[in-house]
Amino acid sequence: MRCPSPTTTSTNPLAPLLAGLGVLLAGCAFGQELPEPPYVDPGPPGGPPADAVTLVDRFAPTLDPWRPDTTAGWKLDGKVLKAPAQGADLVTKQAFGDVQLHVEFRVTEEGQSLPRIKLLGTLAIPVIDGGSTVQPGNTDSAPPGDAVVLFDGTSLDGWTRIDGRPARWDVVKGILRCKPGTGNIITKERFRDVQLHVEFATPYMPQAKGQGRGNSGVYLQGRYEIQVLDSYQNKTYFDGQCGAIYHEYPPLVNVCRPPLQWQSYDIVFYAARCDANGKVTVYPRATVLHNGVVIHDNVEIHGPTGGHLDEKMCEPGPLMLQDHGNTVQFRNIWLRHLTGKGRVSQAPRSVGEWQSYDIVFRAPRLGQDGTVQRRARVTVFHNGVLLAHAVEIGPGKGAKVDRPAEGPVILPAGNVEYRNVWIRPIASPPK
Ligand code: MG
Repeated sequence: MRCPSPTTTSTNPLAPLLAGLGVLLAGCAFGQELPEPPYVDPGPPGGPPADAVTLVDRFAPTLDPWRPDTTAGWKLDGKVLKAPAQGADLVTKQAFGDVQLHVEFRVTEEGQSLPRIKLLGTLAIPVIDGGSTVQPGNTDSAPPGDAVVLFDGTSLDGWTRIDGRPARWDVVKGILRCKPGTGNIITKERFRDVQLHVEFATPYMPQAKGQGRGNSGVYLQGRYEIQVLDSYQNKTYFDGQCGAIYHEYPPLVNVCRPPLQWQSYDIVFYAARCDANGKVTVYPRATVLHNGVVIHDNVEIHGPTGGHLDEKMCEPGPLMLQDHGNTVQFRNIWLRHLTGKGRVSQAPRSVGEWQSYDIVFRAPRLGQDGTVQRRARVTVFHNGVLLAHAVEIGPGKGAKVDRPAEGPVILPAGNVEYRNVWIRPIASPPK
């Protein structure tokens, strides 16, 4: 699905209607519409979402998901699964292909290295060795040591209106709230490639419908809108709902929380690549997690979306938050610049502290003869810090592999404890 971006400005109250008309006129709505993304309850922060297979249940874990011949020495203690210091790695009964995997663990002895989770039974994750270390935040959503904090709850000093005058949104009790009619706001900070964290809550507007209910937007570089909308039991067009890259991609799933509840976007954005003449040679790419659930996996964005600040795709740009006439609230906004940064191989916590991996994995695509047509690909966060984005791993293109493109998940033994481990198959991104 690729639809041209509408040229209407989204500050116009008729924008959704005009945008819809624009799409119709462009012939985009006929034959190319995708089905409404299914609703999936994201569960509490840290999951599991409702469509996940729990491997270590967060309340009452069992050894049932695991192959009995691998469980010797593994012990359940309340909500924790303890690995044997020496012993066999734990292997799932079920095989998986394209998945999102969440693992919480803690190292219990000094000197124990971080566990390497295996996917397809062989591919060890995380994948990057020898890089630098980043200090993670106190929680996975708190700003890591190398983050630029864009809104910390105290002031709008880092923001302006789009014409440069002071921003006029309200800052109340640590929260940034859209003041309808005062216009979009942008950061003074400009960026190219980033990891970005934003939290938002939509207002309770039961009388409003569709695009009129809790509308705002998170514009990457001021150009590409990740839609903010109350899409909890509120139908709208498929590529205009919460989490959509507006009029370009619907989210893979709808994981909205109800209005007034805090939600999160964790976004990895790689800006357009351009030649010396300022012509785009590689489109921007984005991966987005909404409430911890992947809704876009390394999708290509083909141009600025409606209501954009400018079309200078080769230039750095600010973060822009949309005034669409609704009192959407924001908090805890930060980014990490990825451009020019050395490789980050870990963001560890201390012995005894709980840590997490969030992994988005695409199995290799194999031809009929068993050769790799497209390599496996992985995105990894460690304690909320991006380690790898869509990195290719495993056998190279053309290599003959003697196993299927599905396989078990393996938790390594060692001085390690696990809790709240879940996995969910993910759909292919739209083409
Ligand atoms: Mg919007």
